[in-house]
Amino acid sequence: RVKGEGRNGYSVYDDGLMEVADARQRLDSELRHAIANGEFELHYQAIVDAHTRRVCGAEALVRWRHPRRGLVPPLEFIPFAEESDLIDQIGQWVLRRACIEAAAWPDDTVVAVNLSPAQFRRANPVAMIRQALADSGLPARRLEIEITENVFLTGAEDNIAIVRQMKELGVSISLDDFGTGYSSLSYLTTFPFDTVKIDRSFTMNMTKRADCAAVIASVITLTRCLGVATIAEGVENHAQLELLRGAGVDFCQGYLFGRPAPAADLDFSRPAVMKQAGAAA
Ligand code: C2E
Ligand code: MG
Ligand code: MG
Ligand code: MG
Repeated sequence: RVKGEGRNGYSVYDDGLMEVADARQRLDSELRHAIANGEFELHYQAIVDAHTRRVCGAEALVRWRHPRRGLVPPLEFIPFAEESDLIDQIGQWVLRRACIEAAAWPDDTVVAVNLSPAQFRRANPVAMIRQALADSGLPARRLEIEITENVFLTGAEDNIAIVRQMKELGVSISLDDFGTGYSSLSYLTTFPFDTVKIDRSFTMNMTKRADCAAVIASVITLTRCLGVATIAEGVENHAQLELLRGAGVDFCQGYLFGRPAPAADLDFSRPAVMKQAGAAA
């Protein structure tokens, strides 16, 4: 665009901007409708013991059953919801639903639920967790809350206190997407995490890049010294699994053991079956 049309060199009536504003408006009202109509569902992805292949638990991942678009993945609406108050209601629904479903699983399994920094902003999530546990009857030790280091970037002191209160409830806390942020190593000593989840970007490259394999090996060594368990995310093939096992990883999650699917598809009764590379979902 040429300069001088508006204050910033573009007109406020720019068609592109109007389209973006329209799309956001539509997504906002559709999401409000989805909350009122119960259009969300949870899929679960198995978390597997790297050495015995026992299915120790599963991560709850939200999907939106859109009347026209079909099953919408979280990255197409969660970031938007995080910018408004919508994440509060969606997040509350996710937590409650996950606790209710997991209450029917074997007693030695865990359900992991994602909590984004935005969910720390308005309401204190501790009360929400306490309520979900009470309503579902799920023992606190069977719930794991996944947070990212971004929780500690925004409102650091307050949020550390809130996460401590969560731990006091008896739930465990995992550090999600480890390695993707800024000064990751320092967060390991900021807070007593129960688990660190090594991000998929490292797992993905570890068989091709020595530096990624080295990062994974040293993270596992370090967390082990701190008494923190590790989960490798995005494990897709046997070569990755073998390297991870050699490095001493505790748990794995990824397409090799299963894609996220409805709770009914989880099978806790036998070791996870490994899918052939390239096999259909
Ligand atoms: P995340 O918590 O890191 O979840 C893992 C994502 O990686 C999931 O994508 C999962 O389907 C995908 N994944 C797992 N294994 C593999 C693999 O082997 N290969 C590949 N290529 N991908 C794999 P999904 O379900 O699309 O979720 C994306 C992100 O959305 C999540 O990342 C999480 O940050 C967010 N999210 C999902 N559900 C919720 C929720 O209920 N609340 C909040 N606040 N965020 C959520
Ligand atoms: Mg997660
Ligand atoms: Mg993750
Ligand atoms: Mg990730």
